[in-house]
Amino acid sequence: MQIKKAGILGAGTMGNGIAHVFARSGFDVTLCDVEQRFVDRALETIGKNLDREVSKNKITAEDKTATLGRIKTTTDRSQLAACDIVVEAATEKFDIKAQLFRDLDAAYRPEVILASNTSSISITKLGALTKRPDKVIGMHFFNPVPVMKLVEVIRGLATSNETYEAVRDLSVKLEKTPVEVNDAPGFVSNRVLMPLLNEAMFTVMEGVATAEAVDEVFKLGMAHPMGPLTLADFIGLDVCLDIMRVLQDGLGDPKYRPCPLLIKMVDAGWLGRKSGRGFYKY
Ligand code: NAD
Repeated sequence: MQIKKAGILGAGTMGNGIAHVFARSGFDVTLCDVEQRFVDRALETIGKNLDREVSKNKITAEDKTATLGRIKTTTDRSQLAACDIVVEAATEKFDIKAQLFRDLDAAYRPEVILASNTSSISITKLGALTKRPDKVIGMHFFNPVPVMKLVEVIRGLATSNETYEAVRDLSVKLEKTPVEVNDAPGFVSNRVLMPLLNEAMFTVMEGVATAEAVDEVFKLGMAHPMGPLTLADFIGLDVCLDIMRVLQDGLGDPKYRPCPLLIKMVDAGWLGRKSGRGFYKY
């Protein structure tokens, strides 16, 4: 399975990073979002991030120009029809992704791989909406995509070995390290990380320690680059709550109960860094 052209659907935080790494590794990229201003903003971000790589001598100025030259932008999904793989990085809502997977399946050649960058939606379920569940797979990148090495490659129940191997080899070409994971709520990353952040929130709620103290424990005692509450603010408390609910619903074990303080903060609109207030003020 030869992959040369990649389509990226969704040009937000993750989509621009995914387009960046594909184009930097020599793939032709078509980046698609619902409005032109979103793809324009993504291209601007990619340009700035490439400038940073040039200033750190990771790539040359010529590499930057060539990388940008390999990215086309569009708001018309039919422009992705010539791609060998489409990586969906649209908003994390099941209804949006379900509609996209149905439409992509109907519109594109049967051999095209449909990958999703979802953090929590079942790959098996997305696959079952298509006539090619063997070609549906999770390609879970991490933020910031150009920097983070990991790709969790998620095998849905019906994902074929051929598709898995193609995406594993593709991830290596993107200079990432693929790790094979079976489809399950939260995969491995969020299944383990989110309960850690949630438990850190319980310690704050119960007055065991302040947010600052909890973060210090993890930075100094466990050598984490940032503490769990700083990380939760960075990810977004609404996103953390959504993922805890996916774990709770999908696994049914009360140990995945979201911390009441997390629910209260989200209700108050304290969503972390992006809203100016979370466990810290920004
Ligand atoms: P974002 O909100 O920054 O970007 C999502 C983009 O998708 C928006 O620009 C939106 O306009 C676009 N979009 C919505 N519907 C679309 C459609 N029908 N067609 C094309 N584009 C559409 O979100 P994000 O943080 O980039 O997250 C994208 C995906 O990546 C989600 O599934 C999320 O769970 C996953 N993810 C996010 C992170 C993270 O740290 N942000 C990490 C790993 C995975």
